[in-house]
This record gives sequence, structure tokens and C-alpha cells, in this order.
Amino acid sequence: MSQTIIFAVIALSGIGIFAALILYFVAQKFKVVEDPRIDLVSDALPGANCGGCGYAGCRNFAEQIVKTESLEGLNCPVGGSKTMKTVGNIMGLQATESEPTVAVVRCNGSKANASTKTMYQGANSCLYAQMVFSGESGCSFGCLGLGDCVESCLFDAIHINPETGLPVVDEEKCTACSACVKACPRSIIELRQKGAKDRRVFVSCVNKEKGAVAKKNCTVACIGCGICAKTCPFDAITVENNLAYIDFEKCKLCRKCVEVCPTGAILEVNFPAKKKVETNNEIENTEQIVS
Ligand code: SF4
Ligand code: SF4
Repeated sequence: MSQTIIFAVIALSGIGIFAALILYFVAQKFKVVEDPRIDLVSDALPGANCGGCGYAGCRNFAEQIVKTESLEGLNCPVGGSKTMKTVGNIMGLQATESEPTVAVVRCNGSKANASTKTMYQGANSCLYAQMVFSGESGCSFGCLGLGDCVESCLFDAIHINPETGLPVVDEEKCTACSACVKACPRSIIELRQKGAKDRRVFVSCVNKEKGAVAKKNCTVACIGCGICAKTCPFDAITVENNLAYIDFEKCKLCRKCVEVCPTGAILEVNFPAKKKVETNNEIENTEQIVS
């Protein structure tokens, strides 16, 4: 009896040792050796996992970086140039400098500028509303105001202003991850260079309808008249499909276009206020940079 038990124990132990050896050799043969630089690069990235770099999170971006021989075209919008420089040091590669950008909302169809004509009572989502509804003002290009952009932002950097019904970007919090750009079904939000002293000039409208139709629904719509393009000394404005667009790479922030736009569709942001100066009994607006 005791001999049978001893034999069984020895046999089972032998099978166990044999199975362990097989597992060990299989594990050795198929083991994946991870590049230790992945951890280093991953630790240097901000860990926001926003996907703004174009990859599925920071770890995935780190995995791509260690496979590359050049950092050209690779950028972490959250960490910016500083983070990419650290990554470059880890990899022994030259990081490319990139100008900081920020989300810009290109619609100024506030409740005051684009009066309400219809009401929407469906699901509280711009994506769904876009399928069945042109918008409260009738503008089928304008902001729907239901906040898909707000929902998409991981940084609490965009909110709907209850007075205007339009999204407002908090420039301090915005990391330019582009989540809101992707979430907006009307392609109203764009990443633009922050500009010198955070100053920007842009056409706050994406309406491509003919001028009269656009203006009927919104007083500040771009009517595609082209006066701005003719006025710009730097050839920074193009008009296509009844809509003007300012190229931020070419724009020198002179603001001549803002002055001539007949509808006020071009916005200037973060410029010092214009000061009123009296001359010969007339009051003229002069631009006095007080910074
Ligand atoms: S506002 Fe837009 S781009 Fe800026 S952090 Fe939020 S989602 Fe990203
Ligand atoms: S900007 Fe786009 S996503 Fe945001 S509220 Fe307007 S329509 Fe919706």
C-alpha cells in the first residue's frame, strides 16, 4: 500500500517537473523583449492619454517613438516642445520645435447675432441633433450648442456660455489635444497658432452659403464678399465657397481685415482695447498698444 503511494507521489512529481520544464522552454522561446526605453519615454510623456499625438494614448506613442529614427512630425500637444526635447534626449534624436496652438471656435452665432427660429427637443447631443436639425437660427453650419466639445475635453478647458449659447475655450487650460475638434460634428473648432502675445485674428464663421442666405440667419456671418482678401497686405486671406479663411502662418496681425469686414465676421482676440482720441471735434478710434 505504502509503496503504491510513494510511486504515485514520485510519478506526479516527475510529471509536474516535466511540465514546468516545457513551460519554461516555451516561455523562453516566445518571450517578447521590451525595449527599456519605452518605459523611459512613457514616463517623460504627460500621461494625459488624450490621443492628441495621433496614437492611442501615451504608452502607444512611446512604443512608436522607440521604433523611429527621427522625431520629425511627432509631437505631444499636451507636453509641447519641452516634453519632446526630453524625449529627444532619451532617444538621442533631435526634437522638432512646434509653435503652440490653441482651440478656436469659429462661430459667433450667439443668441443675439443669430435669433432663434426653431427649437430642438431631441437627444442632448450635437451629433444626433446634426442629423435632424439645422440649428435654432436656421444656419446649418453654426454651432448647435449642445456641448459635444465640452464632453470630449479631458482638461475642463471648454464650456458653453449660457448667455451666448456658444463654447468658450479657456486658453490657460487648453492643451490643444484636438479632442473637441474631432467631437464637433460641424467642424467649427480649429487648432490655430496661439500667436504673438496670444493674439489672433480669424474668421469666426464657417458658413458656405451665398451671402444673402448666410446673413439672413446670422448678422455676423461671412458673406464671402472678398473685401478682406483684397485689403490684406500679406496675402493671408483666401475666399472659397463664399467663405473667407485667414492663414495663420501668413497673418501678421495687422487687423486691416477686421476694420473692413462689413459684417464683423472677423474677430481679433487678446489685443489691447482701442482708445478713443478726440481730434478736431471728431472722435476717432486709434489703436494704442498699451502693453
Ligand atoms: S479645449 Fe479642445 S483642444 Fe483644448 S484641451 Fe479641451 S478638448 Fe483639447
Ligand atoms: S462647437 Fe460643435 S460640438 Fe461644441 S457645442 Fe457647438 S456644435 Fe456642439
